[in-house]
Amino acid sequence: MSEPHSFATAQIHGGEIPDAAHGSRVTPIHLSAGFAFDDFEQARARFAGEDDGYLYSRYGNPTLAQVERRIAALEGADEAILVGSGQAAVTVALLGLLRAGDHLLAASTVYEGTRGLLTENFSRFGIEVDFVDDPSDLDAWRRGIRPITRALYGEPIANPRTQLLDLAPLADLAHGHGIPLVVDNTLGTPYLLRPIEHGADVVIHSTSKYLTGTGSALGGAIAIASAFDPDYARFTRETIASRLGPVLSPLNAFLLLQGLETLALRVERHSASALELARWLETRPEVASVDYAGLASHPSHVLAERYLPRGAGGVLSFTLRGGEAAAREFVDAVRLVSRMTHLGDVRTMLLHPASTSHARRSAAERAAAGIGPGLLRLAVGLEGVADLRADLELGLRAARPAGSARVVHFPDPSLPVAAVH
Ligand SMILES: *Cc1c(COP(=O)(O)O)cnc(C)c1O
Repeated sequence: MSEPHSFATAQIHGGEIPDAAHGSRVTPIHLSAGFAFDDFEQARARFAGEDDGYLYSRYGNPTLAQVERRIAALEGADEAILVGSGQAAVTVALLGLLRAGDHLLAASTVYEGTRGLLTENFSRFGIEVDFVDDPSDLDAWRRGIRPITRALYGEPIANPRTQLLDLAPLADLAHGHGIPLVVDNTLGTPYLLRPIEHGADVVIHSTSKYLTGTGSALGGAIAIASAFDPDYARFTRETIASRLGPVLSPLNAFLLLQGLETLALRVERHSASALELARWLETRPEVASVDYAGLASHPSHVLAERYLPRGAGGVLSFTLRGGEAAAREFVDAVRLVSRMTHLGDVRTMLLHPASTSHARRSAAERAAAGIGPGLLRLAVGLEGVADLRADLELGLRAARPAGSARVVHFPDPSLPVAAVH
């Protein structure tokens, strides 16, 4: 179909090719390892790439192809490649660009799994990686670029403190050096942010998060801008993804497509609830600070107004005055919120990064990153926000130091939440 006018339409119809065989309105799950050839000649032609039929699901699958076209439409990309997880997407996207002797310059704020991949795995392939300590400092990026640098890499919305990248000048800097800007837009989602419109060349997703949205299936996607080197998409799909083999199951692709069709509705609500909870947490005496780019107090708020007009997403973090002891009490006190390392789910999830995702970093590194012992990450789901506030209230009460005087608020938090509305 022609380019749909709105995101809401594109998430349902973008890139769709109707099922000519049966008229199935929902994309069927082609759960088949391979595809039969009509005859000798068709087998030969398909292996030679002379016809565009399917041959084996590691090289392509009709369910995946439909979802790839949808994601490409949503990101404003020329093409998308699905793989088995977000980590596989980072690996495949970067190995499509880098080989031994090359250098990657990355934001220090990247996802911890990506950091480990870059420092421990890529180093074994002879690929050098440096991190820009302060990714908001364009001069630091400029100084970090070397003759062997092949890409700039970062996350437009960082996790857990939601610092934003200023994408447009970063893309200009990359292009001035003849290299691409590669970003992981997992926290942004194409509903909130379309990095290609700001100059990014390759956009990665852990579709395990918001794009699937139900927490039911891992997956990863790589969306590639039409302006970028046309050989990259083919090389990445055929030589990297198909050979390394991190294939997405057609069942997971189907679950992903079900999620994509409601993405705008969900992310709008995730963002609205996160903003409401962030504002409320900011008023609480137990809380020293709240990190959420949607708040006027956040250092990235000016960038949020420019890059995220539809909302700042569902992830926020907050730091308790009582440090690790308070965080421990808080985490153990909640009843509705799940203690989990996931995000982008319909369910709200709580994590203490210093003792989990960021436990392998030194205390000094965590301090430099602003991930203190009292910091908690909240991945806000789609439950009623009053119910979430009531549950977080349990955490806040538990987090008060023993014997401290009861803090008096108006409205009185001991009232049932419904009564204060
Ligand atoms: C979760 C996540 C990943 C890794 O994705 P998986 O699907 O868990 O492999 C990569 N980047 C970001 C920003 C993530 O949140």
